[in-house]
Amino acid sequence: MIFIKIKRMPKPEWLRIKARSTIDHKIVEEILDKFHLNTVCDEAACPNRGECFAKKTATFMILGNVCTRGCTFCNVSKGKPVPVDSDEPGNIAIAVASLGLKHAVITSVTRDDLPDGGSGHFAKVISEIKKEAQHITVEVLIPDFKGATEDLKKVINAKPDIINHNVETVPRLYSEVRPQANYHRSVDLLKKVKAMNKSIFTKSGIMLGLGETTDEILEVFKDLREANCDFLTVGQYLAPSSAHHPIVEYVHPDKFKMLREEAYEMGFLYVASGPFVRSSYMAEEALSHGKKQQ
Ligand code: SF4
Repeated sequence: MIFIKIKRMPKPEWLRIKARSTIDHKIVEEILDKFHLNTVCDEAACPNRGECFAKKTATFMILGNVCTRGCTFCNVSKGKPVPVDSDEPGNIAIAVASLGLKHAVITSVTRDDLPDGGSGHFAKVISEIKKEAQHITVEVLIPDFKGATEDLKKVINAKPDIINHNVETVPRLYSEVRPQANYHRSVDLLKKVKAMNKSIFTKSGIMLGLGETTDEILEVFKDLREANCDFLTVGQYLAPSSAHHPIVEYVHPDKFKMLREEAYEMGFLYVASGPFVRSSYMAEEALSHGKKQQ
């Protein structure tokens, strides 16, 4: 997709952070290498890696690192996906236990090439982790499985603690940001989870700075609450390169604060809203917060 050339804007002071690299960071990297595991942290060049790795947490990316879709904000490679690694569920469970994680987050590329969209593999990963260490809570950040309820049911039946599915942006921008996705299909997926098992927390996330208006953002919040979504993340979009969707706006921290208050007013149990917030940033905090309010 060709974008109108928008002059690259200098980063505002609130988006300048020091890279952190600690011994724990290295431990995480070593374990990931040992078990041939991918993280969305590395694939998406997440700015919080240093902080999260230092806290021995990471978001594992399953089903390879090549996606069948082409979202214009995303740094993940697109093209012919790699074969599914049947050892991956077991390897992730061992890695999670070796890292001593309290809360494991599992995400994936979208595998429209697989008959079940990869939902069976997600279910195996969840049950392997729960077998390896019962005390660890599991969050899965899933694709939309093209809206297939039977595939979604496989993930729900594996009983993760949180099912996360990001709407990413406002419906008006889908054609240029997530051309193969469908906004209402994504909101519906969250609604189905609650309808099928209300003890599972649901979560969604949106990036700002792609050209959306405040009214459009609040409309998305309202749609998510109508789908009984519990947790919400709101962060600043950062373009991985000049070939990706341009940054239209650097949103001021005051606006993130205002949106957090609006979202709590609407009834979300937990809201993380800030320039550096990403969908699995401080993930375990959402769960402990949500449980307190049940
Ligand atoms: S579906 Fe997910 S991994 Fe694939 S391009 Fe879109 S955001 Fe990236």
